Amino acid sequence: MTLLNIAATHVGTEALGPGVRSVVWVQGCPFHCSGCIAPDWIPDRPARRAEPAALAEELLADPRVTGLTLSGGEPMQQAAGLAELVRQARAIRDVSVVCFTGHRLEGLRARPPAPGVQDLLAQVDVLIDGRYVAALDDGRGLRGSSNQRVHHLTGRPATRDYDFEGRSRTAEIAVDGPGALLIGVPPPGLLDVFDTAVDSVLAGSWPRSGLRGAGTSSHVPRKEDPS
Ligand code: SF4
Repeated sequence: MTLLNIAATHVGTEALGPGVRSVVWVQGCPFHCSGCIAPDWIPDRPARRAEPAALAEELLADPRVTGLTLSGGEPMQQAAGLAELVRQARAIRDVSVVCFTGHRLEGLRARPPAPGVQDLLAQVDVLIDGRYVAALDDGRGLRGSSNQRVHHLTGRPATRDYDFEGRSRTAEIAVDGPGALLIGVPPPGLLDVFDTAVDSVLAGSWPRSGLRGAGTSSHVPRKEDPS
């Protein structure tokens, strides 16, 4: 059985694709984009180990969920497990699948970086590819910068009719006990507000060890990254 190594999950968001979705952020990424908002999820280290079938049930427990968004970290590093996750999810409900990757689609097809890449690509409805480039961040859409491309790999109406590139960005903040998770591609200024709020919490009564930190979809900027 292929186990997934998961940085975070969230059930029920409208900030990362059409409809109500569940999100999986995998742990580990071979890229080090300047300005990555999720630097804690770049190291290839053990996080939450999840079995695909059980995770699929968890992600679809909310009957409103009609889609999955795969992000990270780098999803293609765990393509085999994610492909199985999608298969298990679609055995429960016919969900749409949106996947972010720092790779280019042509490279994934010509030189798959991990087992299961072709299997995963065959199940993804929309692939958003390419590394984040801060200078090309135009503040719009679900891609973090304009060099990233949106590939509609299927004709699924739910994803085909959604404006991934031009829509105004939205984001949600999920608070789970002392943890806070920023979900979505933040519109300009929101990350500053979120970081200020987190700093306020850290300066207050909550222990730092209890704070899960700022997590969001991959390929979006983090202003305080010095690189
Ligand atoms: S922006 Fe995406 S591809 Fe780049 S380092 Fe962060 S998680 Fe990896």
